Amino acid sequence: LRSRTGPSSVASLTALSRLLSSLAVLEQKGGKLNAGSLGAITAAQKLGGSITAFIAGGNIKSAAEEAAKVEGVEKIISVDNASYDKGLPENYAPLLVENIKKGGFTHIIAGHTAFGKNLMPRVAALLDVQQISDITAIEDEKTFVRPIYAGNAIATVESSDVIKIITIRGTAFAAASAEGGSASIEEGVDSKAESATEWMSENLAESNRPDLATAAKVVSGGRGLKSKEEFDRVMLPLADVLGAAVGASRAAVDSGYADNSLQVGQTGKVVAPQLYLCAGISGAIQHLAGMKDSKVIAAINKDPDAPIFQIADVGLVGDLFEKVPELTEKLKA
Ligand code: FAD
Repeated sequence: LRSRTGPSSVASLTALSRLLSSLAVLEQKGGKLNAGSLGAITAAQKLGGSITAFIAGGNIKSAAEEAAKVEGVEKIISVDNASYDKGLPENYAPLLVENIKKGGFTHIIAGHTAFGKNLMPRVAALLDVQQISDITAIEDEKTFVRPIYAGNAIATVESSDVIKIITIRGTAFAAASAEGGSASIEEGVDSKAESATEWMSENLAESNRPDLATAAKVVSGGRGLKSKEEFDRVMLPLADVLGAAVGASRAAVDSGYADNSLQVGQTGKVVAPQLYLCAGISGAIQHLAGMKDSKVIAAINKDPDAPIFQIADVGLVGDLFEKVPELTEKLKA
């Protein structure tokens, strides 16, 4: 599929520089740089042209310094203000727009994360340009590749907008490593936009396991696990012995076997680990949409015709309540 968007008619935008210059929007939490968000810099490197990174929040000096070490980044624009800590789009979007206008950037890139998905459409609307979401490849400065229909079709989109507002799929752009660079750090414009929205509180699921979205190994369970007790009893020791993150199908999440934050798929997390080992998952297309780019897919299912075996590199037909504990014991040994 090939489609076109834009061009924007806003006169003020046409005054902006047409030279390719990217702004990578970085994420932080509690002043700590989210290394995964450095994928935005990788995308900017693929585009070519000058690269600037943007970071905002309270106590972000060390996060800005860390980002400054990424090779090829010329400048970090940092806004040290705790009111941007939580990345609330209501005040973050106007902040970003001001800094985009000041810097005359042509491409604004953020991760296709909760933060990026919340923020970038507002930025696009404020600039009166089209949002280009969840890209997996860059063909040239105006042509981007993105999966649609849960990954069943790949669209190549061309944008003639003056400013391209882009979110990138994390599994397609590895985080740039923070070494070898020495970008300057500059204070950004901070209009301190008033917002009617205020951060009240958050209730986070705590876990000592690797982060599902970025883990090198993922062990995932589905409806075949039958209950939360069995999910925990069978799948968690396997995850422990492999040092893997835990994932689940939507059926397992909806049945209460696993936490919502562990859902993999079209409406859950998109993962691409070195190893995706799943048990009791049939392989519905909505699940595959979240894990089919994994390097090695291993599946345990009692049904030899389960669709998961069509994409699995390694398959084991059998009862997971037997096979998973057996595998765990063998790995321990
Ligand atoms: P099932 O399809 O019921 O499969 C269970 C499997 O376990 C079967 O293959 C069975 O043979 C096997 N099994 C049973 N007992 C055993 C045993 N003892 N040993 C070995 N194997 C056994 N799904 C997602 O996962 N993620 C999403 O993000 C997602 N988003 C969706 C979005 C939309 C709009 C829609 C419509 C659906 C979405 N779904 C999603 C749901 C999806 O269509 C499937 O219903 C779901 O993935 C099925 O989960 P499952 O494979 O665990 O369950």
